Amino acid sequence: MAAKAAPETRRNRAFPQASRPWDGLKAEMLAAREADNPWCHERSFSAAYFAGEDVLRCAHEAYDAYRDQNGLFAASAYPSLAALERALIAGVLDLLHAPEGAGGSTTAGGTESILMAMKAARDWAREYRPVADVPEVVVPKTAHAAFDKGAAWLGMKVVRVSRSEGWRADVAGMAAAITENTVMIAGSAPPYPYGETDPIEEIAALAQSHDLWMHSDGCIGGMILPFMAMLGEPIPPFDFAVPGVTSMSVDLHKFGYAHKGISLCLLRDKALERHHRTTFEGWPAGTYSTPTITGTRSGGAVASAWAVMTTLGEEGYLRIYEAQRRIRERLVAGIGAIEGLVVLGHPHALHVTFYADGFDIFAVEEGTAARGWRSIRMREPDSILLWLNVKHAESIDDYLSDLAEVTAQVRRGGLTAARRGASNYAT
Ligand SMILES: *Cc1c(COP(=O)(O)O)cnc(C)c1O
Repeated sequence: MAAKAAPETRRNRAFPQASRPWDGLKAEMLAAREADNPWCHERSFSAAYFAGEDVLRCAHEAYDAYRDQNGLFAASAYPSLAALERALIAGVLDLLHAPEGAGGSTTAGGTESILMAMKAARDWAREYRPVADVPEVVVPKTAHAAFDKGAAWLGMKVVRVSRSEGWRADVAGMAAAITENTVMIAGSAPPYPYGETDPIEEIAALAQSHDLWMHSDGCIGGMILPFMAMLGEPIPPFDFAVPGVTSMSVDLHKFGYAHKGISLCLLRDKALERHHRTTFEGWPAGTYSTPTITGTRSGGAVASAWAVMTTLGEEGYLRIYEAQRRIRERLVAGIGAIEGLVVLGHPHALHVTFYADGFDIFAVEEGTAARGWRSIRMREPDSILLWLNVKHAESIDDYLSDLAEVTAQVRRGGLTAARRGASNYAT
């Protein structure tokens, strides 16, 4: 007879044994955090979504007000939270020119929004035509890695088109990649790596001519591009105004400036939601039916996104993006004025990528890092990526003068990179 597992089989004492008062523990935790990078700093160009202390305070306080309410029970127990969620979705649908009858769900982030759109596309296609065992999704090479995560979970396959036409999606290459297995195609507004919005109109037209689901990934641009367009920037159409766009993802925890943990998966037709909803009736606890992956979730993120949207309004977002657009203009002009550096494409949002013509851009990255600047390395081509926020208003000129000096040094052969390769996002 098998012996009962003895307590000694526990591997170590990793689980805390004794209780400890929170006050002392808290001091220890915060002291350890001191060694980390600050989450947002004027000499850092990593992705930190900061629009000012007042906006951050609103995001935090609204989060705190609904932090303990479980979003899973919003409809039954917290009607005020359900109302905030409806107003939030309706507001962003309006901003993105959605027609009557459009709908959407809140998710925990862009990855979940993309997964839900992929699941909906797969199950929608299955409903009205024969679909291959492994349905395919055709995307540009720059599409977010979330598509590959989704494909792994959903039994789908991502076909990435290898070329990039002038730093945008290669639509002819995408057309050539469509087969009878294809159910969905996507473009980004804009993609994370290159910052120039894909030709969404052409991709959507391609989807219509092949009867495919088309997803416009506005995780970054969904909350920036409408305002940039209002400010007079030449933004190509990317939202539901484009016929053929079936779904969109919009990360409110990025440029909506909400507390982390909220994105939207939006649908041109709310009836399509049944394709990503899961309903289970045969459970002793009752019927379980949710439109997304998440079950229990804090109500905080929804409240935070609603509060920031409502306190800023169109007026507030325009003010913030006008200020940040000026920072971006100074940066793009400044980089362009440094011999040998080239800005990649036409940045539509608030991230800028540049590469070196004939010398090592990673040596430039290391040289600026030695002067206290944090930036991101990319490949295809080897390049530097900078994410802008309002803190850079004061520091961008210092960065540009350091960048000019370091670049000159690298070109003279006075500085080489100790480390190769791009940054990574592994956790
Ligand atoms: C950030 C991002 C995603 C994924 O969003 P998460 O919130 O990190 O899950 C998807 N697409 C684009 C273009 C993004 O920038």
